[in-house]
Amino acid sequence: MSVARAYDALRESLVGRVRTDEPMSRHTTFRIGGPADLFIVCDTVADVSQTLGTLGEEDVPFTVLGKGSNVLVADEGYRGAVITLGRDFRKHGIDGDEMRCGAGVTLAGVVRDAYSKGLKGYEFGVGVPGTVGGALAMNAGSRDEWIGSVVESVTVYQQGEGLVRLRGDEITWGYRRSDLGDRGIVLECCLRAEEADRDVIRAAMEAGFSRRKRTQPLSQPSAGSVFKNPEGRSAAHMIETLGAKGLRVGGAMVSEVHANFIVNVGDATASDVAYLIEAIRTAVRDAYDVGLETEVRYLGPFATP
Ligand SMILES: Cc1cc2nc3c(=O)[nH]c(=O)nc-3n(C[C@H](O)[C@H](O)[C@H](O)COP(=O)(O)OP(=O)(O)OC[C@H]3O[C@@H](n4cnc5c(N)ncnc54)[C@H](O)[C@@H]3O)c2cc1C
Repeated sequence: MSVARAYDALRESLVGRVRTDEPMSRHTTFRIGGPADLFIVCDTVADVSQTLGTLGEEDVPFTVLGKGSNVLVADEGYRGAVITLGRDFRKHGIDGDEMRCGAGVTLAGVVRDAYSKGLKGYEFGVGVPGTVGGALAMNAGSRDEWIGSVVESVTVYQQGEGLVRLRGDEITWGYRRSDLGDRGIVLECCLRAEEADRDVIRAAMEAGFSRRKRTQPLSQPSAGSVFKNPEGRSAAHMIETLGAKGLRVGGAMVSEVHANFIVNVGDATASDVAYLIEAIRTAVRDAYDVGLETEVRYLGPFATP
C-alpha cells in the first residue's frame, strides 16, 4: 500500500480537499480519535470515482464518514483513507411524492423540511445527529421506527461498477443495521414524501424532542447509545441497576443521565472508552447472562473488542 503515492495523485485533482494525518477527534461527536493517513472530501461523483480508483491502484483501505456520531476511532487513528461527502451531496428537495436527499445532508435538515412541508414518516429522526448516508448505513431511528421504512431507493457507488440504484426492498434493514455499508458508498436516496396533518406531525416531533432533552446528556460529547437493546430488554436499565452510572475510566464516564451513554468528560481516549465498554459488557454478562452488542462502530486498531 502506498499512501504517499495516493496522496500525490489525488491532491493534483482534488485541490485542497485531501489532507494527511488528519486528527479524527475533529470529525467525531465523541471528540476522540487519532489521525487518519488521508482525509478526503469528495464534492462530486467524479471525485468519488477518481478517489476510489486511486485508492484501489495504491491498495489503500478506505472508509466513509458522515458526521462521526456513531463511531469510536482508535487513539492510533486509521491506517488508510477516510472519505467524506461534500458539496454535491449536501442538497435535498421534494420531487413529486419523493424527498431526494444527498447522503451528506444532515438528517436534522431533512426532518425540519419534512415538518415544514407537512410530511409524515420522519418523526423517528428528531434529534438524531448525523448525515442521511450515516442514517441509511445504520438504519437510524427509534426502537420501532427507522429510516429504512421510508426509503424508496438508494444510489451507491461501487468500486468497479460505478453508480448502482437499489430499491428500498432490495436492501436488508434490521435494528441499527443495513447491508448498505457492504454495498458501496451511499451517495443519494429517495424517501417517501406523504402529506399529513401538520399539527399531528408537530406534536409527535415535539414529544420526541422533549423526551430526548429530558433523558439524554445532550451537552456532553458522546456517540449516543453505546449498546443495542437486546430483544425485549433495555441495555440502559440493566446497566443502571448495576449501579454503573457515573463509573469512570480516565476521561470516559457512564452518563449520570442515561446509563447507555458514555460521555467524554475531558480528554477521554478511545482506550478509556473501549475499556469502559468492556467492563460494562462483562458486568452485564455476569449479572444477567446477556451479551451486549455495541451499536457504536469501531474504526482503527483496538486491543479489547
Ligand atoms: C446524542 C446522540 C443521540 C443519538 N441518538 C440516536 C437515535 O436516537 N437513533 C439512532 O439510530 N442513532 C442515534 N445516534 C447515533 C448516530 O447519530 C446515528 O447512527 C447516525 O445515523 C450516524 O450518522 P453519521 O453521519 O454521524 O454516521 P457516522 O457515525 O459518520 O458513520 C456511521 C457508520 O455509517 C457509515 N457511513 C456513513 N456515511 C456513509 C455513506 N455515505 N455510505 C456508506 N456508509 C456510510 C460509516 O462508515 C459508519 O460505519 C445518536 C448519536 C448521538 C451523539
